[in-house]
Amino acid sequence: NKKHTVVIVGGGAAGISVAASLHKRDTALDIAIIEPAHTHHYQPGWTMVGGGIFKPETTSKPMASVMPGFASWYKQMVCSIDELNNQVTLADGSVIGYLALVLAPGLELNWAGIDGLKEALGSNGVTSNYQEGMASYTWDMVQSLKSGSALFSQPPMPIKCAGAPQKAMYLSADYWLRNGALNNIDIQFHNAGAVLFGVPDYVPALQSYIKKYGVELNYQNNLVSVNGPSHRATFRHTNADGSSEDQEIGFDMLHAVPPQRAPKFIRQSTLANAGGWLDLEDDTLCHKRHSNIFGLGDVSGTANAKTAAAVRKQAPVVAQNLISHLRKQPITAAYLGYGSCPLTVENGRIVLAEFGYGGVLQPSFPTWINDGTKATRAAWFLKARQLPGLYWHVMLKGHEWMAKPARRSV
Ligand code: FAD
Repeated sequence: NKKHTVVIVGGGAAGISVAASLHKRDTALDIAIIEPAHTHHYQPGWTMVGGGIFKPETTSKPMASVMPGFASWYKQMVCSIDELNNQVTLADGSVIGYLALVLAPGLELNWAGIDGLKEALGSNGVTSNYQEGMASYTWDMVQSLKSGSALFSQPPMPIKCAGAPQKAMYLSADYWLRNGALNNIDIQFHNAGAVLFGVPDYVPALQSYIKKYGVELNYQNNLVSVNGPSHRATFRHTNADGSSEDQEIGFDMLHAVPPQRAPKFIRQSTLANAGGWLDLEDDTLCHKRHSNIFGLGDVSGTANAKTAAAVRKQAPVVAQNLISHLRKQPITAAYLGYGSCPLTVENGRIVLAEFGYGGVLQPSFPTWINDGTKATRAAWFLKARQLPGLYWHVMLKGHEWMAKPARRSV
């Protein structure tokens, strides 16, 4: 059996960033990355593709081009973890041993959780920016819709980039407004949750755009089934007393977001918490029961917003603590739950939400960029012009720009 000092599962935003951060701290470290995909996606760009701002091809690169040369790359899927014997089993049955393990396989989009959605996607106006390659269909639909009904759905939390379901809606509405179609389009937002956005500070700014675009807001309304050819969607409304009723609504365009969960090999393992997510300590990102297992990114059961922005702050924490673990030194780096969501409320302006555990605001930019109470052009410039480059050339390369770990308070 092969063995490496550090094995990283997943070569997405989290896996590649943490590999680079580890290498920055110890260039001699023997690191393996296990990742089956041929393509690496910059998913934060998909909202912009859906709004016609980015070209789809700018949001992905060949996996080989982001895979660091210092790491051994296994182009395979991990099927199971044997944490008691410090090894993982790959799809072809081979076994790889480790001294320390980093779990960064992201999350699973549970398309089957909404009856008929998978089959409906990509025709009859049914779309989702969450599906790889589908955001350009969103943009096609937005441009062709001149009148009728446009529905946008949001599943129960947690999901990655919790603002993305409404970002798709604002950018669509902005286009319809600029092109004189908005008066003829009935926009509805159907949210399985009870609030527009989980951090109250940002809600007034978002509400002003809901009003501007004339959006009908529906809370506790969960999309349960879709029929593409008949252009009908069924929502299950939960009443205050816990009872529920189904309502069928016709649509000309439906932007749907699937429920989300941890990948099966995590969800069904003893490494998961009660919700199926990776059971990590909030601050150290070390597994609660295994001192040589760490995790970050969307798979994590910590209470931060699941975003690439969170990964930017998590990677240095995992790297520092993992190396301390290998050197038998105390673990001192802490992650304070930072996550960020650039809410694209119109083409040219963003409400930049930046917050940590418990919804505590953690702005990393001055108020002329990040004024939580209103949308700014500077935040749009950041998202549209700066962040993609920062992702590819700074974060994935382990340059820890504004991501110095906090010190753990013990
Ligand atoms: P991913 O980047 O999804 O990578 C996971 C990797 O693990 C994949 O390459 C996968 O192939 C691999 N993998 C999975 N299972 C296995 C296995 N069994 N074995 C080996 N490898 C495996 N974030 C922001 O910060 N700002 C935004 O504006 C923003 N907008 C978003 C909009 C949309 C529409 C979406 C979908 C996401 C958005 N995000 C945004 C969220 C961001 O993309 C994720 O939080 C980020 O990609 C998480 O990184 P990750 O490495 O955990 O997961």
